[in-house]
Amino acid sequence: MTDYAFDPPKPVALPIAGTDVVFPVRRVYCIGRNYAAHAVEMGHDPDREPPFFFQKNPDNLDASGSFPYPAQSSDVHHEIELAVMLGSGGTKIPVSDALNHVYGYAVSLDMTRRDLQAAQKKMGRPWEIGKAFERSAPIGPVHIVDSVGHLSAGLIELTVNGETRQKGDLNQMIWKVPEVISYLSEYFDLGPGDVILSGTPSGVGPVRKGDEMIARIAGLGDLRVHVA
Ligand code: MN
Repeated sequence: MTDYAFDPPKPVALPIAGTDVVFPVRRVYCIGRNYAAHAVEMGHDPDREPPFFFQKNPDNLDASGSFPYPAQSSDVHHEIELAVMLGSGGTKIPVSDALNHVYGYAVSLDMTRRDLQAAQKKMGRPWEIGKAFERSAPIGPVHIVDSVGHLSAGLIELTVNGETRQKGDLNQMIWKVPEVISYLSEYFDLGPGDVILSGTPSGVGPVRKGDEMIARIAGLGDLRVHVA
């Protein structure tokens, strides 16, 4: 048995719908500007330029249904995203083989301290301070591919206090899920437990304490998150 200098942190584990086992998280990759209308609203060209990525920390994922309004920001935005949960990995994965590595899917939110992100962008600095903060990725239960199939089309919608804020279709992704997996595997060794947040449709905007967000993706049900 290894003698750790102190107790190692528990692995981050997410509930899997319809089972008693949990999904152990390894890494979290997020793709930026993957829906044309969102690229435009953020002031960018919606052309199919190569995808870009940033990372959140595994323990930023949070299945509690509560999102504590974070410190050091007064402009925290919601971004609903389809989370792709890998059951196996590899390098240089061909697009044609990519979906074989998907274990399941979940509804997730890429919560963003937009004011901090904007300041970092302006200075050409990394985004972690705006993106990878505590509990910044609320997520629902993992739905296994065997139960829900692969998701390439269907409603993706976020309401805040009952009002629709974001609404799109998974088929509007600029880079499709198999392409994203293949592209990432050219740069990283993907592994089981990796989570990919696949980008957000247009309509991102601020939340306030007390808000109730409902994130909905066809086939995956609703994720309800209270802003505390
Ligand atoms: Mn995002």
